[in-house]
Amino acid sequence: MTFIHPGRRPRVVIIGAGFGGLSAAKQLAQGPFDVIVVDRHNYHLFQPLLYQVATAGLSPADIASPIRGILHRQQNASVILAKVSGVDVAGKEIVAESRRIPFDYLVVATGAEHAYFGNDWASYAPGLKTIDDATYLRRRILLAFERAETASDPDERRRLLNFVVVGGGPTGVEMAGAIAELAKRALASDFRSIDPRCARVVLIEAGPRLLAPFDPSLSEAARRSLEQLGVEVRLGTGVTDCDCSGVSLGQERLQTRTIIWAAGVKASPVAEWLAVACDRAGRVKVQADLSAPGHPNIFVIGDVACAIGADGKPLPGVAPVAKQQGEYVANLLIARANGKTLQPFRYRGCGSLATIGRKRAVAQFGAFKFSGFAAWLLWSLVHIYFLIGFRNRLTVAMNWGWNYMSFERGSRLITGISGSRIEDVVPVVTAAPPTAVGPEFLDNDQVSRVPAASAKLGAEKVLGHA
Ligand SMILES: Cc1cc2nc3c(=O)[nH]c(=O)nc-3n(C[C@H](O)[C@H](O)[C@H](O)COP(=O)(O)OP(=O)(O)OC[C@H]3O[C@@H](n4cnc5c(N)ncnc54)[C@H](O)[C@@H]3O)c2cc1C
Repeated sequence: MTFIHPGRRPRVVIIGAGFGGLSAAKQLAQGPFDVIVVDRHNYHLFQPLLYQVATAGLSPADIASPIRGILHRQQNASVILAKVSGVDVAGKEIVAESRRIPFDYLVVATGAEHAYFGNDWASYAPGLKTIDDATYLRRRILLAFERAETASDPDERRRLLNFVVVGGGPTGVEMAGAIAELAKRALASDFRSIDPRCARVVLIEAGPRLLAPFDPSLSEAARRSLEQLGVEVRLGTGVTDCDCSGVSLGQERLQTRTIIWAAGVKASPVAEWLAVACDRAGRVKVQADLSAPGHPNIFVIGDVACAIGADGKPLPGVAPVAKQQGEYVANLLIARANGKTLQPFRYRGCGSLATIGRKRAVAQFGAFKFSGFAAWLLWSLVHIYFLIGFRNRLTVAMNWGWNYMSFERGSRLITGISGSRIEDVVPVVTAAPPTAVGPEFLDNDQVSRVPAASAKLGAEKVLGHA
């Protein structure tokens, strides 16, 4: 089936309504084009705050906005919900499920996916890229505490209360800090048989320091802040295996039921679609004007593009690069339509920020760098500013204000286990008689609560791990 869009103007098809695709679409509002935005989701996602959904600080709707809503005033833009599986370069059409959508100009901005470096670890060590990933991780993390509360085997309880985050980049650092705060603050007094404060959070990084793109002094500040939150930081340590009961670090074994993968990404398969050269991460090696080699009317931007910066190195996969590239391609198309051309793309660096827990961050703007509360305040303002939509800005600001004062996490919902899927997520096992809580595992405060908790367990069936 061929999708025909009414209109005689040249058609720009944009695949992906992330940071890059959306900025291109908005900038084209001024151009003599019909714009079609195709995305597999009906929302634009603010990925930098995904970790807060995964750790129950925010709800999915706080960080996502419907694409149709964002573009509803833009008369030359229409939106199609479909997953693209290929590009017919010769026929100038994209293949989106049962449709073929013709284009005059194509902008590909499909972002990145998790990379496990050839290992089959995805089911044991889920990553964080989409709303579904975030709600899945939230479920895994919260269920680990629930299962630990009713686990009869002390070893299993310990395994459940161990959380391992692999990868010491911004996502890994943010996740580890947020899980530690969730355990040691928000959940601290909610359980009767376990003390969530006993949870062990381990952050594993293969390189010699955290936050490699930042100045070493900020890497060190981040490590110190995490350790103050109770996170165990393991540097220079590579993961050699993952399975459902833990991770192997060479000869060493860390027992855990929750592994979070923040160690690598690869580009979505655009280089394959276009049959063009890519780098090791699968990113298309684009020309200076961001077009794909040999295809002057096809542009590749954002995380899926390997564009070279002024220093001769590939630009990083961050939101400002994608946004600026989207704007550049739109401006280039408008210039071409007016018989003009543009200078090659140049990235204007915006600085880097990463947060650690609810009141610390690190910030770097060229040679200017700082950390601590001031950096966290700046981080918060920047993220609120860049969120799309007044409602999301207001909700996130209010949530943070409330969480900051109360240590609460308002989105502690375990979702996705209704109906038949509950068996997959929380297998039912018969509990051992009520010796359930091993005193060696408890701190003094908990010992006083043991009898009541054990009595509650009884010998009936409880939810635990198979
Ligand atoms: C957890 C996390 C935290 C991050 N934190 C930061 C941060 O603090 N600061 C920062 O600058 N950057 C951060 N980033 C990186 C930043 O989000 C990306 O660099 C940016 O999103 C790239 O924009 P993009 O437009 O290339 O891709 P994306 O924003 O990923 O958008 C890709 C779009 O393409 C759609 N799509 C993909 N495949 C298809 C298909 N086959 N068919 C149809 N549609 C498709 C997707 O649904 C999505 O809407 C973070 C990323 C993650 C995952």
